[in-house]
Amino acid sequence: MYNEKMYKLGSKRSVIRELFEYGKKRAAEMGKDSVFDYSLGNPNVPAPKEINEAIIELLNELDSIEVHGYTSAPGNLSTRQIISKNIKDRFNCDIPANNIYITSGAAAALTITLNALSTNESDFITFAPFFPEYKVFTGAARARLKVVPFNENTFMPDLDAFEKVIGPKTKGVIINSPNNPSGVVYDEETIKKIVDIIKRANERFETNIAIISDEPYRELVYDNTFVPYLPNYYDNTIVCYSYSKSLSLPGERIGYIAVSPKLHMADAIVLAVAGAGRSLGYVCASSLFQRVIEKCIDVQVDINAYKKNRDLIYNSLTKIGYHCIKPQGAFYLFVKSLEEDATAFSDKAKTLGLLIVPGDDFGAPGFVRLAYCVSYDMIGRSIEAFQKLYEMYQQ
Ligand code: PLP
Repeated sequence: MYNEKMYKLGSKRSVIRELFEYGKKRAAEMGKDSVFDYSLGNPNVPAPKEINEAIIELLNELDSIEVHGYTSAPGNLSTRQIISKNIKDRFNCDIPANNIYITSGAAAALTITLNALSTNESDFITFAPFFPEYKVFTGAARARLKVVPFNENTFMPDLDAFEKVIGPKTKGVIINSPNNPSGVVYDEETIKKIVDIIKRANERFETNIAIISDEPYRELVYDNTFVPYLPNYYDNTIVCYSYSKSLSLPGERIGYIAVSPKLHMADAIVLAVAGAGRSLGYVCASSLFQRVIEKCIDVQVDINAYKKNRDLIYNSLTKIGYHCIKPQGAFYLFVKSLEEDATAFSDKAKTLGLLIVPGDDFGAPGFVRLAYCVSYDMIGRSIEAFQKLYEMYQQ
């Protein structure tokens, strides 16, 4: 009657969802101020005012058919041209409009890309800690996800392990920097080392492994941290981009795939992307929001609020005695659990109203993730609970 694999996926509640439900229950019983919800990566910084203005202008300027009608399957040519120019202006990288496919956010960009590349028995590799949906997305593309461990002090990938994990079936390497859940940005030196390893593997296995750069947090960086643009370092690169976080538009589902024209068999892969989009039903992403992006291509969300949050939560927790790395980007803090079992630690935190996500599903047992895209006020009020939690482990 139904697909057992899909049933399992649909019926397994995520840990984040569990925490969210618990938070709602606790708020109803004990009041909203008793919940410090660090579970969800939902931006709390509002979308820039230019977004709303653009929506209103578009509704006034264009007739209904134009705003709400189907666009061409990969998106409006005018939108793709503007994205292509934006990439050229910012990164001095030529990705023609024809190589851009507009999607419903990074999730769709990733699923399309994985399906476009995956053949029988394909492996994709990613670096822990990683976005848990990669497992679901690779599974849906009939591929396997292999995970490379990380250095617990730097959160950088263990490159010796990476070299060993790459094999003849490796189709692609998913890189997510700034990283969810660690907030780490892979520096240029690390990127160059990753690229060298992939190039050596290409020679060894006579293959052309792709880098899939998943970058919904590209613009969310602090202290002038440099985020290398991967097509400038490796020809076989496909960028999966999203406006969910950079413009605080997660519910509007808008992003894109950019296929480097230098990619091995780029023209065929552009067509495979179109085919995968078609077969998955991901054609003509939101018409209204394609046009909003056209108008707001240079607009950015105010990241100072996230930086203020980062400084408050990082400084407060490290002062108490928690171990964590100072995030350079995104809006997550990855903290060492005070006991080996991060789920037990998260459960204990829950009793104090602190909703923090165990790192197991991110490929990092023994850590918890805090999404600090919350109000500054809530962070301030939560510190006492973090102090109490710490003291519970000192007895
Ligand atoms: N990739 C990473 C690393 C993410 O953290 C997220 C969302 O949180 C996504 C992809 C999916 O983003 P989107 O909302 O654009 O589908």
